[in-house]
Amino acid sequence: MTNIRTRFAPSPTGLLHIGGARTALFNFLLAKREPGGAFVLRVDDTDAKRSKREYETSIMEDLRSLGLDWDEGPDKGGDYPYRQSERTHIYNEILDKLRKSGDVYPCFCSPDRLDALHKDQAAAGEAPRYDGLCRHIASSEAEARVAMGEKPCWRFAMPDKTICFHDSVRGDLSFSPQSVGDFVALRGDGCPTYMFTTVADDHYMKITHIIRGDEHIPNTARQQALFDRLGWTAPVYAHIPMILSQDRQKLSKRTGSVPIRRYLDDGISPEALTVYLSTLSWTAPEPLLDVFKESASVRYLLLKMAGMFSFDNVSRSAPVHDEAHLIYWQKESFKKQPRDEIYRRLLKADQRFAALPPEVLEKLIDESAGEFYTLPLLTESLSPLIERPIGVGLSEPWAGELAEVLANTERWDAENINIALRAFMKNKGLKGKEFFHPLRLALTTREHGAPLPLLMAGLGREESMRRILAACTMP
Ligand code: GLU
Repeated sequence: MTNIRTRFAPSPTGLLHIGGARTALFNFLLAKREPGGAFVLRVDDTDAKRSKREYETSIMEDLRSLGLDWDEGPDKGGDYPYRQSERTHIYNEILDKLRKSGDVYPCFCSPDRLDALHKDQAAAGEAPRYDGLCRHIASSEAEARVAMGEKPCWRFAMPDKTICFHDSVRGDLSFSPQSVGDFVALRGDGCPTYMFTTVADDHYMKITHIIRGDEHIPNTARQQALFDRLGWTAPVYAHIPMILSQDRQKLSKRTGSVPIRRYLDDGISPEALTVYLSTLSWTAPEPLLDVFKESASVRYLLLKMAGMFSFDNVSRSAPVHDEAHLIYWQKESFKKQPRDEIYRRLLKADQRFAALPPEVLEKLIDESAGEFYTLPLLTESLSPLIERPIGVGLSEPWAGELAEVLANTERWDAENINIALRAFMKNKGLKGKEFFHPLRLALTTREHGAPLPLLMAGLGREESMRRILAACTMP
């Protein structure tokens, strides 16, 4: 049995988003399902105008952050160049062969003619495709036109028969010759197209399985025809359903697709992200939460998921991107982080937390981590402890009296502060919210946060009183 080889082939024309990351993840999981599998990173940068090295770098960084390390790729070496821009000689060789056999032909149709053609087809309810007008131009005429300075593109002559292929998620699929026209293999500017290069690359890189979004299904029909014509065996295909937005639109920037980088910057853990992405059309045969809880690293989690991965559990229906689910996983992720690790990271995020008594800060973390489930959220929620917020006025008549009570409270720890606050509240006949809400605002300017006695213990007696008194004098 040959070892599995999968690839992720991003075009470096933008940041890595949810959809791309899920495709990468599924390819990774399949490759790592059994020992000996390889996950290849190939950079589809034939579109020289839109491709940028900085996007390639950022996609790589994000994949690495998610734990989706590749075995072969542009930066790793391996048996091939892994950027399409470095593989031109391979494409030229194949194109020469196809030219000789007459399987590609020059097409001189203008963009205007093609536009009009596609419009007519759309009006007739047909898929846009080339009608083969230039297929029968004699080579002498073609040569003469090229000599006169025309720059034709080169189209692959699709076979005049139904194209069939098997899809591991969708089953058998077939396309009639009328539904797929001759596609451009080489553009007029001399750049080979994705449709063509991907076949050459998948063949030479010995890719055994291709998992990609189902928007590629019509492309697969074209690529299958090219594989057949070149006498090559096509890889196993698996098209996964497109991810939809909450309002069931194609996920795009406009409908809420978010770059992976933003989630990572927001403190969502790679584990939460990868497990969430896996649930977008895959159902693990075992409860993922159990695996998630026992995992100590994203690598462990990924390998566990890989062991369970199969196309049998990949759904055909489109999943919906729901950040509430991502947050669910993030909460689980934050919950299982050792408290001293969060402590260490909090100090790293802001050294000023080191001024707080360690036992108070530890308790604050315990009390807050459920509600503030990422490091940035937690840091933000605790920031009133290290920064004097611009206060919110405290017009309650009892405020001055409270300051006095606090000045005389014995030991300044959360327990004693709690006793003092509750006694004061009872004494004044106040209800919990009437008392704690304005007090919290005066001390922290926040609506929510860790229990007040704990926060006040962290602030210290002097600072707590200072803030209460300052708030009293505010308009
Ligand atoms: N570069 C292509 C894309 O990003 C790859 C598609 C494929 O997997 O073949 O859509």
